[in-house]
Amino acid sequence: MGVAILKFHSTNHSCPEVDFKTALLAGLAPDKGLYTANEYPRFDRDELLGMASMEYPDLALAVLSKLVGDQFPPAKLKDICKDAYNFPVPVVKLADNENLFMLHLDKGPTASFKDFAARAMARLMALLVAQEKRDMLILTATSGDTGGAVASAFYGVKNIKVCVLFPADEVSERQRKQMTTLGKNVQAIAIEGKFDDCQALVKKAFSDPDLASLNLSSANSINVGRLLPQSVYYFWAYYRVCEESIGKGTLDPVVFSVPSGNFGNLMGGLIAKQLGLPVSKFIAAVNENDEVPKFLETSTYAKIEPSIKCLSNAMNVGHPSNLARIVDLYGGTMDHEGNVLKLPDMNRLRDDIFSTSISDEETRFIIETVHHKYNYVLEAHGAVGWGGLKRFLDFYDVATPCISIETADPAKFPELIQEILGIDPPLPPSLKKMQEKEESYPKQKKDYLAFKDYLIENYAT
Ligand SMILES: *Cc1c(COP(=O)(O)O)cnc(C)c1O
Repeated sequence: MGVAILKFHSTNHSCPEVDFKTALLAGLAPDKGLYTANEYPRFDRDELLGMASMEYPDLALAVLSKLVGDQFPPAKLKDICKDAYNFPVPVVKLADNENLFMLHLDKGPTASFKDFAARAMARLMALLVAQEKRDMLILTATSGDTGGAVASAFYGVKNIKVCVLFPADEVSERQRKQMTTLGKNVQAIAIEGKFDDCQALVKKAFSDPDLASLNLSSANSINVGRLLPQSVYYFWAYYRVCEESIGKGTLDPVVFSVPSGNFGNLMGGLIAKQLGLPVSKFIAAVNENDEVPKFLETSTYAKIEPSIKCLSNAMNVGHPSNLARIVDLYGGTMDHEGNVLKLPDMNRLRDDIFSTSISDEETRFIIETVHHKYNYVLEAHGAVGWGGLKRFLDFYDVATPCISIETADPAKFPELIQEILGIDPPLPPSLKKMQEKEESYPKQKKDYLAFKDYLIENYAT
């Protein structure tokens, strides 16, 4: 398969283009924009058909090689894919008489889809840090699941330290424990504020010249290294649900419903489409933080400040950082504060993406009815995705397979499942282990100077 040399520009267009390695290590671009690819290579028909029966690690290798194969020794990239993707990725058909599927991205070590990106990214970064003989501090804001996935992925990696900021009152106990019980090179800080406050602190630290000596980098979806690995599971799910048509040599389109917060997952899907995957529609399903569906409807963007606290806590985002990349992909410009400087091609955007908001009340109702109808336990994020798909199907009559994404294991949110369904979701082994461990984390106000002092005190050498 051909190897591309991708170049990345900043969504703010005020700094030079860079290669993938540079974008990966930098996290944020120096002009505060997000690095995003200038254009994507495309798999041709034969290549797409040829990848259909690959195992997940081989598929990941094929997709990542197409994107950034020029940046890493092939054997290393192969080892990384094999090592990162050592867990199942089930695609489940809910009922025989319906063409609806659930893609489960919750079987990794921290039971959320964040494992897919974090595990590949940690290994790629570890490789670069070792090559360059330097050290690095990964600074990450989390709305719930990124922190655990990043902490787990980087745990024990030499020369890389991790500091995670989470909103003190908006993560579940199990989500918190995934960050606060590891120790070693992983430190979590509870911020008395919302996810957006955590994200703002992190962004400010990145552009603070006083902190340059800390070698900061980001593992949030502001880092383009998170996005590329997230295009792989779209291929994986596609091949599972289209087995029959692929057997006949045809590539039929499908629909994906993506529960969305910071829109990194959706951006992974859009990259897959750019690479040639036939997707007729993406559904961007959000909770009550409905700034994106409103943007698509009215062509006017207004972030929600502060974000609304909903059951699907990892999606409580009032200004998704990846929106700047999506706007960029469709020919527009959005600056780092969310101002639309140039409107993207809204018609093309609406052709590709249907976006809708699912309330907490609807989320509860969906968890209940899906359990009743299919004997299937969804948690709140997956329920928002499912609700988005159902609403889409109310408007449009489609014959294509529809795939809804479940992004977390219900056992991460036992209280809610117990309350709605009256059952205790079984605990996966990875979550069981951390239950007994001791927690350790400081609590801080959402104050930048205090945060900066903390970083200097704990990480400056
Ligand atoms: C992070 C997360 C989301 C939202 O994904 P984005 O890429 O931020 O849109 C959805 N569900 C779960 C469980 C998550 O952890």
